[in-house]
Amino acid sequence: MKLVTTDYHIHSTWSDGYSSIESILSYCVRKGLKAVGVTDHYSHNTVKCSQIMEDLTGYFQELEALCEAYRDKIVLKKGIEIDTRACVFDSPRESRVLTSQKFDYYLFEYVTDNFGAGANSLPYKNNRLPLVLLNRIREFKKRLPKDCLVGLAHAYLHILPKEELEEAIKIIVDADLFVELNSTYQNYKMEGFERILEVDEIKLSLGSDAHTLHQIGKLTQPLKYVKDYKAEDRLIFMDGIKELEIEL
Ligand SMILES: [Zn+2]
Repeated sequence: MKLVTTDYHIHSTWSDGYSSIESILSYCVRKGLKAVGVTDHYSHNTVKCSQIMEDLTGYFQELEALCEAYRDKIVLKKGIEIDTRACVFDSPRESRVLTSQKFDYYLFEYVTDNFGAGANSLPYKNNRLPLVLLNRIREFKKRLPKDCLVGLAHAYLHILPKEELEEAIKIIVDADLFVELNSTYQNYKMEGFERILEVDEIKLSLGSDAHTLHQIGKLTQPLKYVKDYKAEDRLIFMDGIKELEIEL
C-alpha cells in the first residue's frame, strides 16, 4: 500500500476528530509523511463543534507550539475549516475572530451545497447561492495577509450549470482560491469536475478529511488525477517536497 506524503485536511479533537493534534503528528512521522495540515471545524453546528468556538486562540496556540516541537520531523500547517452553512464568517464579529490568528490557510466547506442539511433554516439563504458565496469568500480573503491561502473543501463544483461553473472558475482564478480534491467526498471523480483540472491557473490541494488516524494520507486516487493532468506543480504547500508517495 502507498500513502501520499502530504495531507492538508485533517480533524483533531478540537472539533469532531478522534485524535489529538499531537497523536496525529506522531502517527504521521511514524508513517513517513512530510507535511500535513490540521483543519478543525469552525461551525455553530454543535454536533461538529467544538472546543474551537470557545477557544480559537487555544487551538491556534497548540498548533503553533506543536509546529515548533516537530519542526525537524514534519511540516505542520495551521489551518481551519469554515462551515459556510453554520456561521456568518464575514459578519464583523466572526470575521474579527477568524482573522485574529495568522492561520496558514482557510478551507471553506459546503460552498456549492446550497440546500443541504441545515441550510434552509438559516436566515441568510440567498447569501448562500454559490456565486454569491464565492464572492463573499473573495472579499474575506482581502482581509488576510498576502501569504495566507484560501481554498474550497470538497466542493461539488461539477453540479453547477455550465455558465455558472465558468463564472465560478473566473472568481476562483481571480481570487486565487485553491480547490481541494477530497478523498472522502471523492469530488474529483465526478463528471464535470475535470473542468477544474483543465484550468492551469487553479491551484489544487489533496485532503483526506481524516477524522481517525488510519484515514490520513490515503490520497493515492486523487493524486492519480493530479498526475494525469500533469498538475503536480499546482499543488499547494509543496516547497521542498519532492517525494509525493511512500510505499508502506
Ligand atoms: Zn473536514
